[in-house]
Amino acid sequence: MRWVDRAACQGQEALFFGAENEPRPKRDTRTAKAKAICMLCPVREQCLDYALRNTIRHGIWGGLSYECRTRKRHRRNRGAAAA
Ligand code: SF4
Repeated sequence: MRWVDRAACQGQEALFFGAENEPRPKRDTRTAKAKAICMLCPVREQCLDYALRNTIRHGIWGGLSYECRTRKRHRRNRGAAAA
């Protein structure tokens, strides 16, 4: 079974991928709901790793926005370079 088949967000794509011109208060509410689902997801680690490895720019993955994933990817890369 693939990890996506166990995703807690199945059927809730609208919560995870907003419109580009979505107003800020609405986006904040939507992403907070999405992140809450991620916190209970059994494949959060796999999901986040997939998004980081593929530099996915849109949506909430593994409980993180693109901006948060970028910071995490930079920390991961710095850690790999130091090892
Ligand atoms: S971590 Fe979040 S975005 Fe990833 S599969 Fe789970 S619910 Fe979906």
